[in-house]
Amino acid sequence: MDLPSGKLKEQILKTPVEYLKGVGTQRADILKKDLAIFTYQDLLEHYPFRYIDRTRFYKIRELNGELPAVQILGRIVSKDIIGEKQAKRLVANFKDETGSIELVWFQSLKWVDKIIQQGAVFMIFGKPAIFNGRISITHPEVELYQPKAENKGNLSLQPVYSSTEKLKQFNLDSRGIQRILANLIDQVIRQIEETLPDQILAEHRLMSRQKAFFNIHFPDNTELLRSAERRLKFDELFFIQLKLLRTKIIRTHKFKGAVFASVGEKFNTFFSEKLPFELTSAQKRVVREIRQDTQRGIQMNRLLQGDVGSGKTVVALMMTLLAIDNGFQACIMAPTEILAQQHYISIKSLVGDDFVEVELLTGSTTKKLRKILHDKLENGRLNILVGTHALIEDAVKFQNLGLVVIDEQHRFGVEQRAKLWRKNTIPPHVLVMTATPIPRTLAMTLYGDLDISVIDELPAGRKPIKTVHMYHSQRLRMFGFMKEEIEKGRQIYIVYPLIKESEKLDLLYLEAGIDAISNVFPPPLYNISIVHGKLTPKEKSSEMERFVKKQTQIMVATTVIEVGVNVPNASVMIIENAERFGLSQLHQLRGRVGRGVDQSYCILMSGNKLSSDARIRLDTMVRTNDGFEIAEIDLQLRGPGNIEGTQQSGVLDLKLADLAQDQQILIEARKTVIKILEDDPELTDESNRLLRQYFERRVGGISWDKIS
Ligand code: ADP
Ligand code: MG
Repeated sequence: MDLPSGKLKEQILKTPVEYLKGVGTQRADILKKDLAIFTYQDLLEHYPFRYIDRTRFYKIRELNGELPAVQILGRIVSKDIIGEKQAKRLVANFKDETGSIELVWFQSLKWVDKIIQQGAVFMIFGKPAIFNGRISITHPEVELYQPKAENKGNLSLQPVYSSTEKLKQFNLDSRGIQRILANLIDQVIRQIEETLPDQILAEHRLMSRQKAFFNIHFPDNTELLRSAERRLKFDELFFIQLKLLRTKIIRTHKFKGAVFASVGEKFNTFFSEKLPFELTSAQKRVVREIRQDTQRGIQMNRLLQGDVGSGKTVVALMMTLLAIDNGFQACIMAPTEILAQQHYISIKSLVGDDFVEVELLTGSTTKKLRKILHDKLENGRLNILVGTHALIEDAVKFQNLGLVVIDEQHRFGVEQRAKLWRKNTIPPHVLVMTATPIPRTLAMTLYGDLDISVIDELPAGRKPIKTVHMYHSQRLRMFGFMKEEIEKGRQIYIVYPLIKESEKLDLLYLEAGIDAISNVFPPPLYNISIVHGKLTPKEKSSEMERFVKKQTQIMVATTVIEVGVNVPNASVMIIENAERFGLSQLHQLRGRVGRGVDQSYCILMSGNKLSSDARIRLDTMVRTNDGFEIAEIDLQLRGPGNIEGTQQSGVLDLKLADLAQDQQILIEARKTVIKILEDDPELTDESNRLLRQYFERRVGGISWDKIS
């Protein structure tokens, strides 16, 4: 089946960048150090981050404070370095035939001073702003105007490349980089190989790869530029999807899965006699999806997404009962001790005594108890084991593990998941649950090799949490409200930010906050639990416990309150300095309340000065409770790289595509991949030759063993 891989025409792209005309060893060294450009290929993929529309020069008379960055042609008529110390700045008077503006620099004064010669015609680029009633541009890009500048293509769209001070000193400013890229393109453009079959190119109206690389660097017009971008983004996203979905297929072929053929006594009894509520239709749908998955004899790898409070635990429990009915054991793993304990307690209370054997295993389980647990596991007397990382340890051996449930997915690494798999000759079915809603496009990429189930509905009768935004000046009102709620028998969380970079100051705020609250809510009438990172685990859980047992009415905490902590009687969540939290964090924190029958509230406290992003975050929280909508906005605000749980994922190392902006292309690419793999899963068809080649050359073989 192996195709001769042959010598790649593209081999030339591996050439070290120093051999390129116009580079040489000295510049190559800086390119490596400053921009991580080592080879021709790296340089080819050093895409412009912006293009200047050379067709449009603004006149100074047309400028106002509302415009985006614009391009202006004019002369420096005077320049001066003024001010002292921090305020020291270079101010130049810039003039065209319609008026004059000020250009201001606070940095690299000497350097700029050398460049901007009086009298010469300059092209400047920057965002006009109004300062002291006069239009000025701070740190504009300036460039000596050269009407006949050497250039590829025509001059209408000029690429702008990121560069550094050091590179600029060696004539590799944006223009300089453009020059060496022109040399590179000249030399390699005809060696660039097509990666996508003709049929896909035609179907999706994609330009050739050669044409795309040319036009991304030297576009003739906006239309060609957009097409080039679309082509290269499609490439990136398409091959990620191809890899992910191939992994999935290989896994399906390679691993048999336990067959949960029938619904038996435990499942049925639980469903008809013990389940204290009606399942929501979303829960029913997910149960059905999992059931179907576990009957096929293929190992299940499923991600279960559901907002906080959507009822994932009971779904997980029912699946473990299904495993038990079919002669298997199950385990449920949580990221922290408190969470594991809670799962254990809620499962115990749902199933009651003498129904199934459930035990808890965590880091603090005694040696003696461990020994007993291990034995019960190995001889099959234990049905469900709930626990933390402790479950992964080699000493933990199951007789017949059929299902692994992992709560809060993002805290466990791939390696840890794999360890659980190996605990059985037939790998167990895996259900990972997460309460962090992930926008669809992100999920497709991060978990593109998993099946995804979504619980998108809260249990009936749940009152939506009311969220308000208050300023520090309204604190008295807040205290009053707290008193009312406590009188009704409710409990209250108050959360303070504690961030590493500002830890000392944050701790001071926390202390001051605790003082103020203790003054307004003094004992013996009121009692307060305090939980923060400086406490030992034991102190922490004893403080938590007092709150759970209603011995305290208020819990003051830093963000250490665990995801998933469940105290249904707590109905108010107050978040101090809410402007400092990210959207997903705010949403997670708010999810701590609204779990009981009472109306719940979330109060976001902030200062008066808010950045525009902070305002969007707080407004979003006030407007909606929908975790997926919030996640979508979070993605738009912060970009995919900063979304919780994505940090270590190499999948998101995209050069051009942006999962927040390019959802349409991603969906198109994924659909295409699915269709191709449905028709030709092994990619043996002649029409898929290029895709096969991609695997052979870049991934190192098509049936690689490594699975993730
Ligand atoms: P999460 O998805 O955040 O893990 P849980 O599983 O902890 O949510 O469920 C939250 C609460 O809702 C629990 O007290 C649970 O018993 C309850 N619950 C779950 N499903 C339903 C339902 N269909 N109807 C009513 N209450 C439910
Ligand atoms: Mg949960």
